[in-house]
Amino acid sequence: MTIGVLGGGQLGRMLALAGYPLGLHFRFFDPSPQAPAGNLAEVISANYDDLKSLECFAAGLDLVTYEFENVPATSTHFLAKCVPIYPSPKALETAQDRLTEKTLFHRLGIPVPEFAPVNSSSDLEATLKQVGLPAVLKTRRLGYDGKGQFVLRQHDDAQHAWEAMGGFPLLLEGFIHFERELSILAVRGKNGEIRFYPLVENHHQDGILRHSLAPAPNLIPALQTQAEDYATRVLEALDYVGVLAIELFQCAGRLLANEMACRVHNSGHWTIEGAKTSQFENHLRAICGLPLGATAALGCSTMLNLIGTTPEPRQVLAIPEAHLHLYGKSARPGRKLGHVTVRADNQQTLEARLEQLGFLFSP
Ligand code: AMP
Repeated sequence: MTIGVLGGGQLGRMLALAGYPLGLHFRFFDPSPQAPAGNLAEVISANYDDLKSLECFAAGLDLVTYEFENVPATSTHFLAKCVPIYPSPKALETAQDRLTEKTLFHRLGIPVPEFAPVNSSSDLEATLKQVGLPAVLKTRRLGYDGKGQFVLRQHDDAQHAWEAMGGFPLLLEGFIHFERELSILAVRGKNGEIRFYPLVENHHQDGILRHSLAPAPNLIPALQTQAEDYATRVLEALDYVGVLAIELFQCAGRLLANEMACRVHNSGHWTIEGAKTSQFENHLRAICGLPLGATAALGCSTMLNLIGTTPEPRQVLAIPEAHLHLYGKSARPGRKLGHVTVRADNQQTLEARLEQLGFLFSP
């Protein structure tokens, strides 16, 4: 079976690494000839809207999936005419626009921060009255890692926010004073079977995920049940096949949905060594119509993103059960270059190992 992957970044690379033992073959599509998946499989290098190149990419493929969420919808619909594509283009399209995404959550009874679309500065004035202060103004599309956001703390901020972001379709959201950020990863097979990974606690800095604790410590079981219920609603509403990630805010004993990703997710990297089946393998199992793998955690893990620089491998690998993943990308400030997952059978041992890795934590 040959799987075509739209996007050839680190997520694609880890998909291929999980798929080769299953006898799968891969072909990637990425605008960059230097895409990290390039030293594992063929990469067709062209813009996502280049239909001729998409046609060459699709020739002979058994199915197509994505590791990049901003592939133009027209390109995925074009591909869907000649090759099965999972998750469906409809799911991807829904998640590409924060307004359709939040509207779906709301329609399915999943709690979200108060939200309203903003298309003009007078809209902003009006929606501010509805949503209240503080609030977050976000671009509806193409926002990731905290890019395309403006926090409004006082009324005067509205003018600055509009100057910085006006001209794009926007969404205003109530600012949530959350206790912590969590994410749920779930996988749904072609037969409708669903499996869930344990909730993970995520720590961001400057809008970028820095580290994840898996499973989320001190979690009451009711929150896991709540998250699984939210994920089930979304998966079933979209007749979804593959891995889905939903980012959540824990606030006053309940969970609010922030956003979803129709692909494998950074907060699931710990599953490579920390769960019975990795998110990458389970995504492939799902889209290939194979039985899903067990999702239970193996003890506890912490995943640390390597952002901007990478450590001396020797220093990381000297620590028991510290696993280094380098994506083969050139170093640039703010760029995700790799990650380290540390696993242990219990929290105490994990903490001792993390202490040895203290040099990786930024001040
Ligand atoms: P996003 O791009 O929506 O994932 O937002 C990036 C980060 O901004 C989140 O991980 C949160 O830390 C923060 N954030 C986003 N939306 C809100 C909100 N409504 N209230 C408070 N913080 C938020």
